[in-house]
Order: sequence, then C-alpha cells, then structure tokens
Amino acid sequence: IQWDKANGWHDARVHAYGPLALDPAASVLHYGQEIFEGIKAYRHADGSIWTFRPDANGARLQRSAARLTLPQLPVAEFTESLRQLIAVDHAWVPSAAESSLYFRPFMIATEAFLGMRAAQAAAYYVIASPAGAYFAKGVAPVSIWLSEDYARAAKGGTGAAKCGGNYAASLLPQMEAQALGCSQVLFLDPVEGKYLEELGGMNVFLVYRDGRIVTPALSGSILEGITRESILQLARDRGLQVEERKVSVDEWKDGVVSGEISEVFACGTAAVITPIGQLKGKDFAVGDIDAPAGEVTMAIRKELTDIQYGRVPDRHGWLVRLR
Ligand code: PMP
Repeated sequence: IQWDKANGWHDARVHAYGPLALDPAASVLHYGQEIFEGIKAYRHADGSIWTFRPDANGARLQRSAARLTLPQLPVAEFTESLRQLIAVDHAWVPSAAESSLYFRPFMIATEAFLGMRAAQAAAYYVIASPAGAYFAKGVAPVSIWLSEDYARAAKGGTGAAKCGGNYAASLLPQMEAQALGCSQVLFLDPVEGKYLEELGGMNVFLVYRDGRIVTPALSGSILEGITRESILQLARDRGLQVEERKVSVDEWKDGVVSGEISEVFACGTAAVITPIGQLKGKDFAVGDIDAPAGEVTMAIRKELTDIQYGRVPDRHGWLVRLR
C-alpha cells in the first residue's frame, strides 16, 4: 500500500514476490526510517486459518510509526493486509505440527529527499514465509550472553519501537554471543547498566520457586512484546503472582545460584517460549544448560500454543480468523 501526504493510503495491491524499485535518495536508505512487525498465521485441525492478536501488532506498528515519523496505518488495514495475502494462496500456511506462516509487515519512507524531516511518502508491505516447528527435536534450553559492552537502546531513543535501526545496533553483540556458543544476547538498561532489558529478539522472565513470575517492567527502551503480555495474562489466570518491575542482573545470578529462581525463559512470536539454561558473562556462568526445561515454562508454553493452534478454547478472544 502506498502513502503520500496529499492522497493518504492508496493503491493496495498484491504483487508477485520480487525486488522493489527505490529512488537512491529514498529516506529509508539514509535515515533508517523503517519499522516492521512479526506475526504468524496458524492452521487449525479443521483447516481454518487464524492469526494471534493482530490488533496488538497493528497498534504497535502505529506506535513505531509515530516514533519514526511515518504515517499511521489503520489497525483494520493491518489485519486486512494479512487476510489479503492468505486469500491469494492459503496453501502457504503449513499444516504440520507447530508450523505456521510467518508474516513480516514493514513500512519504509520512500520520499526522495536528503534532509531531516518527516517523510512525505511511504510504502507498507507484507511478505510471508512458511515457518517449521522452532524446536524440531523438542524444546531445548539455550545459553544467553550478557552484553556488558553494548546497549541496544538509549534513554529517549527508539528502543520501544520495532525499527530496523535497533536491530542494526544489536547485530555485533549478537554475533559475539553466537561466537561464544550462546544463542542470544542479553541487554541491560542503557542508564545504569544494571537492570535487565531484553534479549536481541525476545523478552525475558524469571520464575521463582515460591510461584512468583517476574519480568522487567516496560522501561521505554524495551519492546512491548505481545507474547510477554499474553504470558502475563496466562500466569495471572493460573494464580501465579506476577511482578513487572526493575530486575537487576545480580538478582538473576544470585537467584539461580541460591536456587530461589527455579526457571528462566525468553519469549517472542518466533519461538513462543524458549527455556534459558545458562547465563554467561565475561567472568561468570550461572545455570545448568543440561537441565531439562522447567515445569512452569513448559506449562505456559503449552497453553499458549494450544490457544494459537485452536486446541483449547480462546478464552481471551485473542484469535482472529483469516480464512
Ligand atoms: N524484543 C525484541 C527486541 C524483539 O525483536 C521481539 C520480537 N518481536 C520481542 C521482544 C518479542 O516480541 P513479540 O512477543 O511481540 O514477538
């Protein structure tokens, strides 16, 4: 869908997949004016196709757009764009267990203009790709690398927006983490360098042995994960005590060592929930990577995927039918 200041949103079309033509002066190429989303379509046993909380993704795209001075796409248009892609060929939504169609909606500033101001022209696209089961051989705990040299976000920056620039900043620490045998990097707050923010592409939770479930409060510089929000709801439904607050990295380390923290997990649209077995840093490692995934982690993971795949009632009205 194209947008310009004079005409608003117009020219919604489904094209065959292929390269985009962009003016070399397009703002996106110079000032990083790009935002995106990640959301999936799930095929249920009766063949119907559903997506999960598209209003939340559509609203987040709007918040990202506001921060990056991009135009506001109505939330109904966001959901409709997913529906239109499915309408072209729903066979792309796999039916194998725990597989899905991953949508990547994104918006770029297309105005050809070298200068610092809000874009007067933009374009919104959705591409999609079938995604197999994230853990093909059973859910396996991962190691996380604590990044002490880099932050992904700054106070007053774009950390809470889902914009490409945030991920550009994360790439180098992410490569470092992988070189050290860790699957993702953990970022601390950009002000004191003490409190947990999030992983490169996931939010993080600590589970206490006494039944509390703790996650960093939205700080203005972490992404408001939709999986995070859904897990908070499911945890409350289970009668767990939920705490959204500042969590220091020492609380994590000490809690794992003392045994007060029994489980740690990360969450996001791609993997839903990934157990974290170990946290490693320059001069320490806590946790046991060979320990099995925790019970609370796996129970919440099962409940959320059961809702997404239509295996249990959708009591919160999170699913929206696409076909
Ligand atoms: N944090 C970051 C930096 C992410 O990229 C993602 C993935 N979108 C998340 C958290 C999790 O968000 P969600 O649950 O909406 O996928």
